[in-house]
Amino acid sequence: MFKCANCGKEFNYLYAHATEYNTYLFDGENYEWRDAYTAEIEYACPECGGTLTMNEEEARRLLKQA
Ligand SMILES: [Zn+2]
Repeated sequence: MFKCANCGKEFNYLYAHATEYNTYLFDGENYEWRDAYTAEIEYACPECGGTLTMNEEEARRLLKQA
């Protein structure tokens, strides 16, 4: 369980905001999707939206608290 130091609410999950880069083939008219990769993930409190960490290990640790 995670307890937000900001708003005091408790959750058993976090919001993970992922920034993704997409690769398309562009022939001058159309875009054909080819690939996507996640550049970074920001873990935030579901209630107040406060950014908690950018690190998955740290996010896991936060969820294991009391
Ligand atoms: Zn919060």
